Amino acid sequence: MKTFEELGVSADLLRAIKELGYESPMPVQEAVIPYLLNDESSDVVALAQTGTGKTASFGLPLIQKIDLSLRKPQALILSPTRELCLQIANDLKDYSKYIPDLSVLPMYGGTSIENQIRNFKRGVHIIVATPGRLIDLMERKVVNLETVKKVVMDEADEMLDMGFTDSINTILERVPEDRTTLMFSATMSPAISKIAKNYLHDAREIVIGTKNEGAKSVNHVYYMVHAKDKYLALKRIADFYPDIYAIVFCRTRAETQDVADKLIGDGYSADALHGDLSQAQRDFVMGKFRQRRLQILVATDVAARGLDVDDLTHVINYGLPDDIESYTHRSGRTGRAGKTGTSISIINLREKGKMRAIEKVIGKQFVAGTIPTGKEICEKQLLKVMDEIEKVQVNEEEIATYLPEIYRKLDWLDKEDLIKRVVSLEFNHFLEYYSNAREIAIPDQGKSSRKDKGGDAAGGRGKRGGERSREAEPGYSRLFVNLGKKDGMTPSMVIDMLNQNVDRRVDVGRIDLMQTFSFFEVKERDAAAVVRSLEGLTYNGRPVNVELASTDETGRGDKGGRSKGSAPARRGGKKQREEEDFRKFFDDDTPFDDGGAWYKKRKKRRR
Ligand code: AMP
Repeated sequence: MKTFEELGVSADLLRAIKELGYESPMPVQEAVIPYLLNDESSDVVALAQTGTGKTASFGLPLIQKIDLSLRKPQALILSPTRELCLQIANDLKDYSKYIPDLSVLPMYGGTSIENQIRNFKRGVHIIVATPGRLIDLMERKVVNLETVKKVVMDEADEMLDMGFTDSINTILERVPEDRTTLMFSATMSPAISKIAKNYLHDAREIVIGTKNEGAKSVNHVYYMVHAKDKYLALKRIADFYPDIYAIVFCRTRAETQDVADKLIGDGYSADALHGDLSQAQRDFVMGKFRQRRLQILVATDVAARGLDVDDLTHVINYGLPDDIESYTHRSGRTGRAGKTGTSISIINLREKGKMRAIEKVIGKQFVAGTIPTGKEICEKQLLKVMDEIEKVQVNEEEIATYLPEIYRKLDWLDKEDLIKRVVSLEFNHFLEYYSNAREIAIPDQGKSSRKDKGGDAAGGRGKRGGERSREAEPGYSRLFVNLGKKDGMTPSMVIDMLNQNVDRRVDVGRIDLMQTFSFFEVKERDAAAVVRSLEGLTYNGRPVNVELASTDETGRGDKGGRSKGSAPARRGGKKQREEEDFRKFFDDDTPFDDGGAWYKKRKKRRR
């Protein structure tokens, strides 16, 4: 392992990072620092998780390369959230402690733009910005990026997910072509490799650890309960892990608030984080959670994005998210920094199909968990109380004056009695609650998965809804796509997607639209080509994922489409089939929409 000196870090920076306690470089720093200090370097895509030391890996060389005599922006760092923006700017200020003339300015939304304009006009070397605020400042003709030589996109996958693709386009258009661009991402998704192709030139890929390392260190556990029992299940899980430090993800703001209110009402150390709260309220809640003054944070996906916490014990999905990428982001919040984490999903039968779809994308199976019984929880809590009694710090000096009175009062109790009473003090409410609580009924999955086939995984209704687990028609393969009615998906959009992106005529069979995903069938011989052609496709900036669907609820992939001889053959000739297909398209209650332009594949390369 090399030292920071050997990597070429300058004396002023060395002094500052020594004070921060950085003894030796972390792997991402060893890989990226010398590369960026080298003037000939080309662009970089670095796959590194949060907490790996990536800020210093780009921050130190960026600072070192600044020409202090030119008081103009020379480096631009884009970050998805204001919290990360501030964190990066603060880190850079710490690193440049002994370079007093260096000016770093964070520019982010949700706060006075006037102050930022004033500060910018004083002269800035490094801008750390969220895309939205930067565009605003560019449109006001305050910020000009013509002097920028280096661009860093931090947490690029998050930025894409948050819909900043167009903003990033606009920003990069305004930075001179001879820039060096660095993209940091936790995972190498198709969307990331695509953006790297578009914006980066001969990019070198630096992988720290293994790709998608986060997913490997996370166990995925599901608890199957009736929808009405989800909250009870959550309570039991929280009780079973007394030292829990978790984010509970909900789908809507209302649900987030509701679950948090219930937990607070039931005496848990919990609070809510969602978009209906003011920025000040959100900062307050996030602060409490970071300082561990809260054990459970109930949050929406969007609101939790600004929160960077490394040592969560659990991520809990209070129901599965609508899209698979959100699940990956949620679960990637645990199992960081070399630790193993657990992503728990409390789901009902209707979500089982969604779970199978997620399994295919993350390449890992969910393990079925059993909701702890009241007795198991009581044992766990009892152990915790005993552990606390053993470990409590006794302030001998302070307590000494009170002891004579305490001894006098408790004199009549023997040791066993005293122990029972002390433990009961903490433990009684659990005993009371669980001695009266009914055990949570586990849905009959065998029977219900048949029933399940009659209902929409995402809660929709209608005759198509339950057909997500059906087999493909003979000669056809059934494909899954992560867009559904909620995304405006219609049968004609499926056809357009194929027409615009597959270089051959594709016969389309049955189309089943769910709320958040859909299935469509193509001829078996075309399936592989269709999946290949749609790789890297985006829809409104969101990565589109198309893959072979599994045929049943057990997650057994069918790979080739259908299992031979199991589905009834379609009667009639080609014409009749076309008529059936045609009727089926217009049979759907969603309007016909010919909006082919919604699907776009980026063909242009920037340079
Ligand atoms: P980051 O991934 O940039 O958020 O860094 C994660 C944490 O590691 C931060 O608290 C940094 O201050 C710390 N850190 C970064 N580089 C080093 C280093 N070389 N030695 C010790 N700590 C570091």
